[in-house]
Amino acid sequence: MKTYNIAALAGDGIGPEVMREAIKVLRATEKRFGFKLNITDAPVGWAGIDFAKKALPDITLDICKRSDSILFGSVGLPDRDPTIPKEERPERAALLRLRKEFGLFANLRPVKLPKELAHACPLAKERQGDGIDILVVRELTGGMYFGQPKMTEDIGGGNQRAIDTMVYTTQEIERLAHVAFDSARLRRKKVTSIDKANVLENGVLWREVVTRVGKDYADVKLDHMFVDNAAMQLVLKPTQFDVMFCENMFGDILSDEAAALGGSLGMLPSASLGTTNGNQTFGLYEPAGGTAPDIAGKDLANPIAQILSAALMLRHSFGLNDAAAAIESAVQHAIETGHRTGDIFSAHEAGAKRIGTRAMGEAIAAVV
Ligand code: NAD
Repeated sequence: MKTYNIAALAGDGIGPEVMREAIKVLRATEKRFGFKLNITDAPVGWAGIDFAKKALPDITLDICKRSDSILFGSVGLPDRDPTIPKEERPERAALLRLRKEFGLFANLRPVKLPKELAHACPLAKERQGDGIDILVVRELTGGMYFGQPKMTEDIGGGNQRAIDTMVYTTQEIERLAHVAFDSARLRRKKVTSIDKANVLENGVLWREVVTRVGKDYADVKLDHMFVDNAAMQLVLKPTQFDVMFCENMFGDILSDEAAALGGSLGMLPSASLGTTNGNQTFGLYEPAGGTAPDIAGKDLANPIAQILSAALMLRHSFGLNDAAAAIESAVQHAIETGHRTGDIFSAHEAGAKRIGTRAMGEAIAAVV
């Protein structure tokens, strides 16, 4: 029987509660689809600091290195120990370190608003069509956030000059373009590549390379859109998008704009992918939201983002497309049958049942 090794890093706040439900759902797929998941828990974030005085303890990093992928909860508790410097706090010392350590260059953020949750979306109903379903594919390790020189210098007369540099190579664009086109093949086969080719050199190269890679994917429709127009189109007609393909900074901004359309942070999973070996890709899978200290430990968190992150892991790291689809349709079934955690509940919705984290996980696992 095929076995997959998973490091489960639940982290802080609601992390352990939602991770528990995701593992419950994964165990249900194991039984149904006949594979084995070796899931090893390891401390991270403040849990890591409490355990080994480090947000990413050595033992946790070691477990990740020996695993085929990482299922991550979330880290960070803003009110804890202000004397710990920024570089040692969980957000930087754990998450950014893991991204760097495993070369996670591609970020996938699916935003799905089922039509049953139309009330949770800020857009007017007529703009939502039959429901919004967009995948944002964002470059994660290049562009303006990492380009050199990056500095602030004195230029005399009490003035300073700040410099950030946007840099992309053909190879960086190419490898991410393949991720976008391959992802589109698993969806509605349309890529909208976002750039600023009318102003930026990077945009010109981006458009050239994406067009060239697109020729290998004759079955996928490719469009190009300037980033300013894309920001506008997302709120005017989000249903026109299937895969939105962006460089790092544009993707950072557009993926948060798209996330707002999804109704709740508790519904949004994400995947950060690294290199592929054979037919397995190393990835880190986590909810788009944080540790939600305001609701932690109260059985109030929505576990769907974590559960859908586990589904992304099965699909993108292990190629277990049927098991991933089974989880996604179990989530859809739970929504259709009126299961609602507080963040997606509306008292005006007929037939909606307000339930807790555990009951939502159980409802989804039962259908898988
Ligand atoms: P947050 O995402 O934790 O919470 C924002 C709001 O969304 C809160 O009202 C929260 O209750 C709600 N929310 C988030 N997830 C939810 C869920 N699953 N179900 C229901 N409601 C949910 O953002 P924040 O409050 O700005 O940050 C809290 C901590 O989390 C900070 O320390 C921050 O740095 C950290 N953080 C970590 C990650 C990560 O680990 N990847 C991401 C974002 C924030």
